[in-house]
Amino acid sequence: MKLSTFSNALPRTFVIFLFALLFISILLDIAQSAATRPTPQQSSIRATPTVFSNPTLIKRYQQTITPEALASRLYFLASDLFEGRETTTRGQKLAAQYLASQYRLMGLEPKGNAKDSDALSPAAYFQPFTVYRRTPKETHLDVSVGGNRVASSTFSANAHDDLSYFLSGKIADATGGVVFVGYGIADDQLGYNDYAALKAQGISIDGKWVMVLDNEPIKDAKTSLLPSDEHKLTRWSATLNPKKKAILDAGHPAGVLVIEHDSPLMQGTFAENAERASLNARRVGPLSLTESPFPPTYAISSKLADKILAASGQKVEDLKQQINQTLKPVVFDVKDATVNSTAERSKALESENVLAFIEGSDPQLKDEVVIISAHYDHLGLDPALKGDQIFNGAADDGSGIVASLELARAFMQAKRDGYGPRRSVLFINFAGEEKGLLGSTFYTSRQPLIPLEKTVADINMDGVGGIDLKHPTHSKNYIYINGTKELSGELVDINKRIKETVGSNLELTDGPGFNSDNRSFSAQLVPFIYYSTGLTEHYHTTGDEPNTIDYDHLARVVQLVFDTAWQVANQNERVKGVNRSELEVVGYSCPPCPFECDTVVYDHDGECPVCGMPLAPKYAVRKSAE
Ligand SMILES: [Zn+2]
Ligand SMILES: [Zn+2]
Repeated sequence: MKLSTFSNALPRTFVIFLFALLFISILLDIAQSAATRPTPQQSSIRATPTVFSNPTLIKRYQQTITPEALASRLYFLASDLFEGRETTTRGQKLAAQYLASQYRLMGLEPKGNAKDSDALSPAAYFQPFTVYRRTPKETHLDVSVGGNRVASSTFSANAHDDLSYFLSGKIADATGGVVFVGYGIADDQLGYNDYAALKAQGISIDGKWVMVLDNEPIKDAKTSLLPSDEHKLTRWSATLNPKKKAILDAGHPAGVLVIEHDSPLMQGTFAENAERASLNARRVGPLSLTESPFPPTYAISSKLADKILAASGQKVEDLKQQINQTLKPVVFDVKDATVNSTAERSKALESENVLAFIEGSDPQLKDEVVIISAHYDHLGLDPALKGDQIFNGAADDGSGIVASLELARAFMQAKRDGYGPRRSVLFINFAGEEKGLLGSTFYTSRQPLIPLEKTVADINMDGVGGIDLKHPTHSKNYIYINGTKELSGELVDINKRIKETVGSNLELTDGPGFNSDNRSFSAQLVPFIYYSTGLTEHYHTTGDEPNTIDYDHLARVVQLVFDTAWQVANQNERVKGVNRSELEVVGYSCPPCPFECDTVVYDHDGECPVCGMPLAPKYAVRKSAE
């Protein structure tokens, strides 16, 4: 309908009135695009638009995320003063206080559940959780042969000897006889299987100590005697995990003794290794939410192993030579030997996630929440290092944390202008990520402070400010986008459309599926997208400092994240996900466990006994919902 025809049918004064209205609305539009602050009347009548319906508006707030603002925060948070922000340390607690104070200043609502009588305390933003050190306070290992005690070893932060030190596993007392299981390798592809030999001889490991040689049969430090590809060293020398898996497949031992024997792969003497372990025991070290389900595991010296073997008339060196020369397993029940260990736990420690909330502006949609997450803990400091001892964690994940703060600030600025997000937005800064996703596992599997049913998506940032020298196109202006086909499709698509709509020159690169706190959400089937610049030059080194960050690049990344979060919070339709009410938990497993544990379904929550990562629930559609 043209205005001229329309006007013929109407009284003149009304037409003038219409023109005046039109004129005013044009003026208002001009005013709105020129200024950042619209009139309050407008804000009360408009639903906040999406990126795609009003890119100009979103760009206005996106532009307030500047390299300078990000740098000002990161140079502080990743300074030496925070001592590397290791979970449970003073540096981590300082960072938590800083984050809470910043959220308070910006007007975000506290969403923690820490008990504190003072409503204005930073603790209002904290979700506390208890963590346990994987390092015992003290252990004793006693060896008896034929009823006579032949050796006794003590290990703690203040005591070590040349006999034993605690490696990993459950911190509990253990006692039993000993079975020698060669190298503890079960690898039919390599034609070498110690456990098949056990089985053939009818020897059980149940209730006994499994004693194995460290590593694998080798010729020199780089060459395996096993028929591997070009005789390269195999996974059996890389970590203890494949051996743990093989042990669990074979039975239920009381404990495990790993003989650190003389070999080109052994760095330093046993006594030196025990001393290093003792020094490490003074640090926080590895942490967990639950007790390890793997039996107590000790490193022992050849000297102690020879004492254990005495009544069998064997020696470590002879056994090793025999196996290496024949590549045939040698396994046997060790005669007359009993090993008795006691272990005292270190005291439990506390850490905290930081949660800040922006309530949604749409009465229908505000019950749904978009989570923006990043971890604020890092690796702490290592007093054994010469020179720089502090792991500053500027890229990992200081960059994600300062991004969270700038995203919060931009969202609050828009909200004050009448463009609050229609869905609620919850910022979670996790602790314990570097210790094995502890904070996010606690949140998602123990205590989601907003029900997961109401959680639309997790937008996770971990290491968004670095440069991966191995980037496929050698770009210096990229971001890896990680997700799964099932849970991230729509979010990935939104990113591609945003890039076109707002004209970002950032290269979006399919991520190789790096893992971070997003794994805790994906385990619960919550849609997620994970932004990262990948494994950068300074990844997990003391060189991850604020002056290595390209802040222009970081700002472009954070702007893209802002647009995505804005879109997800404001579009009419909830991001496609699973209907959780139709699902039930049918067990727990470790996906994707690099040690093939993901095929094992446990009936209880906890951690993978092999790799130590938190188990994830296995969901199936409830019978009644089918
Ligand atoms: Zn990280
Ligand atoms: Zn695992």
